[in-house]
Amino acid sequence: MRIARVIVDLSLDKGFDYNIPDSLTGKVHVGVQVKVPFGKSFRRGYVLNIIDHSEYPEALKDIHSICEHHTRIPEPLVRLGRWMSEYYCCSREQAVRTLLPRAVRSGKVKHRTLKHYSVADTAEAEKFIIENSGKKRAAGQILIIKALLSCKELSQEKLMGEAGVTASAVSGLMKKGLIAEEKRVVRRDAYADVEIIHSTTLEPTAEQAVVLKKIYTMLDNPDGKNTMLLYGVTNSGKTEVYLQSIARALETGKESIVLVPEIALTPQTVRRFRARFGDMVSVLHSRLTEGERFDEWSKVNDGLVKIVVGARSALFAPFRNLGLIIVDEEHESSYKQSESPRYHARDVAVMRGHIENAVVILGSATPSFESFNNALTGKYELGEMLQRVQDCVMPVMNVVDGRIGAVEPGKVTFFSKILVDAVFDRLSKGEQTIIFLNRRGYARQMMCEHCGFVAECPDCSVSYTYHRQRESLSCHLCGDVIKAFARCPECGAEDIRYSGIGTEKVEAAAMMIFKEARVVRMDSDSMRKTSSYEDVLNRFRRGDVDILIGTQMIAKGLHFPNVTLVGIINADQSLYIPDFRSCERTFQLLTQVAGRAGRGDVSGEVIVQTCNPFNETIMYAVQQDFRKFYEYDMEVRKVLSYPPVGHLIAVHFRGPELDAVSRFASEFMEKIRPCCHEGVIVTEPAPAPVERIKGKYRYMIIFRGSKLKNLRSALRELILHGPVPQNIEVYADVDAQSLM
Ligand code: ADP
Ligand code: ZN
Repeated sequence: MRIARVIVDLSLDKGFDYNIPDSLTGKVHVGVQVKVPFGKSFRRGYVLNIIDHSEYPEALKDIHSICEHHTRIPEPLVRLGRWMSEYYCCSREQAVRTLLPRAVRSGKVKHRTLKHYSVADTAEAEKFIIENSGKKRAAGQILIIKALLSCKELSQEKLMGEAGVTASAVSGLMKKGLIAEEKRVVRRDAYADVEIIHSTTLEPTAEQAVVLKKIYTMLDNPDGKNTMLLYGVTNSGKTEVYLQSIARALETGKESIVLVPEIALTPQTVRRFRARFGDMVSVLHSRLTEGERFDEWSKVNDGLVKIVVGARSALFAPFRNLGLIIVDEEHESSYKQSESPRYHARDVAVMRGHIENAVVILGSATPSFESFNNALTGKYELGEMLQRVQDCVMPVMNVVDGRIGAVEPGKVTFFSKILVDAVFDRLSKGEQTIIFLNRRGYARQMMCEHCGFVAECPDCSVSYTYHRQRESLSCHLCGDVIKAFARCPECGAEDIRYSGIGTEKVEAAAMMIFKEARVVRMDSDSMRKTSSYEDVLNRFRRGDVDILIGTQMIAKGLHFPNVTLVGIINADQSLYIPDFRSCERTFQLLTQVAGRAGRGDVSGEVIVQTCNPFNETIMYAVQQDFRKFYEYDMEVRKVLSYPPVGHLIAVHFRGPELDAVSRFASEFMEKIRPCCHEGVIVTEPAPAPVERIKGKYRYMIIFRGSKLKNLRSALRELILHGPVPQNIEVYADVDAQSLM
């Protein structure tokens, strides 16, 4: 008797055993979606294992049936899911859940079918016309047969469009057996009306050729070293390397997955994959409807496409002959999922490559310390491209001490004279400028000068940000929005002061200083719709905008040859976030923003305004010296055993009552302490840097060390199966990307 261990569609960590009835012999495999009796009803689940003996002594129930569509997760993906569940300390059900899009899992979305009609028996049909000609009652039916005889076949839509055709006439003919109906699957194509200009392979530069050779060697020997860190400066031709690697994989019949951090923000990159490979590419982005998502998944599942480009979840595309996984901008923290399972797509990609013998390329201009360390220690292959292609030179970086050199008119202190002059210079030459500030809103804080009252979110421990355009105060943590105060709600005074600048204020100032210029702001407030994002980019590309002001949103993969100046305001702002990665993030951001300058024939200039011109991170960023910066910051990490020197697991506790949360965190610590073997460094339970979000108090314990495997399984056990009081939530964030 064979037995299937099934994980049921509930948030459960436990597998349940079922008999495989004779009727399903040979059909139940690992990864197959099945319907099983559960309690008093039926549930869907996935087969995780096929075993010979069950540990459960009771009589096992039979699997009821296999679900429609025969959804089946490829076995290597089931293994990957199991690994995620262990490594990220989440339930198996949660891990399995991430392997399939909801549209597929639910079984509710179906293939869209269209009915097609044709004549079933020509002789009989012609006889029908002759016998019934002139009879009024048969006029409609004759019309249908004639139409089908002349066209061979018509879709329901076309047929019903013919004059005088009724549904009853069609069904009448069906009953007579004169015409036949066939249902055909139509695939929804979200990109059907996007125009694509085909592109061809470019002759590799010397640097590209070296890297490609290494990649081809890896593709030919996938069981050797199979992961490469491709460290290439902005514009060094990384994307072209990806394209040629995919082409190589295709030649041997292998499939490829390309992960990009935020697909809505990288339309240009995505388009390049379609341009090279056309219909062989499936693009998964967050704006797909459930139906489209289902179709894209099925195309992969049915082997109709060979390449998938998408954000995080594209990693689980059900390819069965995977050759290559590319993780573009591998350092991006958005690859880490913030909800359970809190997996890091880059790391899971490396694991999937390992399980399926596929080559993994991690690309970045500012590699994560984890990946760079792995490349230096030889765990990964290192590919380096340090020259920009097509002779465009690196931009000139200038630092301006933000504490001096303010311009007088209107007392705008955050535009230095040097920056103002540089912008005027570009305006006179008809060149474009990008101004970057990583904070949206108008002012960071609203304060009463009279009584000292500061407007704070009642549910989170942060102050409200003031948005002038909407005359509102909003909490950037929970999204709460209230009307801005005209006078202090505490003392009634009108002496309200706004401090700390955001993009709205920069926009207002730019409009005041550069009166003639066309200024546009781009951040998540002004770009509520993704279409407005594309709109602004198109206007900018056409040259209808002189100055583009924005947040991170403008830092990503954009390519505008006419941008010759990038101004960075408050470049040091992100340095003071209490997180061991704050320097790394600042370096990445500055490099990325600077990369927007001078991509055309004219060389670019970057003006970095900071109150900390002598800060090492800023200096190395300005010199564009990643290696020096890496060595500098690694010293700190070595001393404190922070990643990549050691691993890090943050355990979070949340709840509406401070005492209960703090008490539970301490109890938890005492239970786990015996598992903290030598080499594990523990930061005792303490309030998180942001103590409260959405009305919930937050505590944290941080574990660091080089070998955390045993600790991890103890944590997993305690979190998933230990007693947790009501109202308290506890979870582990393994390899946490943020310690806020
Ligand atoms: P990255 O991804 O590193 O920023 P890209 O692959 O986007 O770099 O390349 C930058 C620009 O250089 C693109 O316009 C691309 O078409 C062009 N390019 C890349 N490789 C070559 C090559 N071998 N020959 C000519 N142009 C190239
Ligand atoms: Zn809030």
